[in-house]
Amino acid sequence: MRGKMNINGYTRTCGLIGNPVEHTMSPAIHNTLAEAMGENLVYVPFRVPEDSVKEAVEGALALNLLGCNVTVPYKSAVLPYLKEIDPLAEKIGAVNTLVRTGRGFKGYNTDMPGLYRAMCGDDVKLEGEKVLILGAGGVARAVAMLLAQKGAVQAVILNRTVEKAEKVAEEVNGFAGRRFAEAMALSDYTMLPEGERYLCIQATNVGMYPKQGEAVIEEEAFYQKVHTGYDLIFNPAKTRFMELTEKAGGRAFNGLKMLLWQGVIAYELWTGREVEDELAERAYAAMKQAMGIE
Ligand code: NAP
Repeated sequence: MRGKMNINGYTRTCGLIGNPVEHTMSPAIHNTLAEAMGENLVYVPFRVPEDSVKEAVEGALALNLLGCNVTVPYKSAVLPYLKEIDPLAEKIGAVNTLVRTGRGFKGYNTDMPGLYRAMCGDDVKLEGEKVLILGAGGVARAVAMLLAQKGAVQAVILNRTVEKAEKVAEEVNGFAGRRFAEAMALSDYTMLPEGERYLCIQATNVGMYPKQGEAVIEEEAFYQKVHTGYDLIFNPAKTRFMELTEKAGGRAFNGLKMLLWQGVIAYELWTGREVEDELAERAYAAMKQAMGIE
């Protein structure tokens, strides 16, 4: 895989902190970009036990790592060990990228800029949109903030546990400085105004491998309210939510491009170099090959 590149005394290392990390696609993204751009850099996953997050961040610094990605379940747990946090990541309350600065690591969240770049590439606009968000977890909360920032007019957060959706809506309204988000139980979608069609962002775990074939809402009447369905799940590549959206006449996308762009933006932060679209496409192909999909 790294045929043309020599690992030598100048090689810089970037890593992934998480648990588990064995199924990550990030090495395919970063090692492909490094090779294509002639950067003397390798990317390696590190499985970190629950009680060793502090040691992992300090160890990465001591070992002169250029940067790290952070994945589940440590995106918030690493925050106390960072020297600096980017304002967007601070508002979101989670980082997925650490960049070495002189004094320590600075934390960024490239998931949301990654999602935005993916949506722009898929011609999905946010400005002026009314948006349904399925789920009220960490990612759904960040998505709602992104929507507020990018000019969506309204977000309705539908969640199994309605209290969680209410809490997220309140926080997002504080962030937005306006009444932007509202909460609903999943089954209350029937109360949405008749005739309105929405962009719907699927941010629950439902339908993810190995439980593909499930969707958080099954009823056709819901999907008739959706003009575009954006599932953040990327495995499987075609989720039940996407199938139901398309069956009702909407456009549907998965989370693979979000995964790609969060990685590309992290790579740009580590190296200070811009990744051209053609190279991002190459990383996308490597990622899909690693996942065994077309
Ligand atoms: P999380 O904090 O654990 O939240 C999970 C959400 O799913 C909650 O709203 C939960 O509802 C809901 N949920 C789980 N099981 C459910 C069920 N059986 N029925 C109804 N609702 C259910 O997860 P997260 O970190 O926000 O991640 C959410 C999704 O984003 C995941 O699928 C993940 O793969 C995806 N993601 C994609 C990317 C990418 O690059 N494409 C990056 C990050 C995350 P309750 O509140 O009721 O429990």
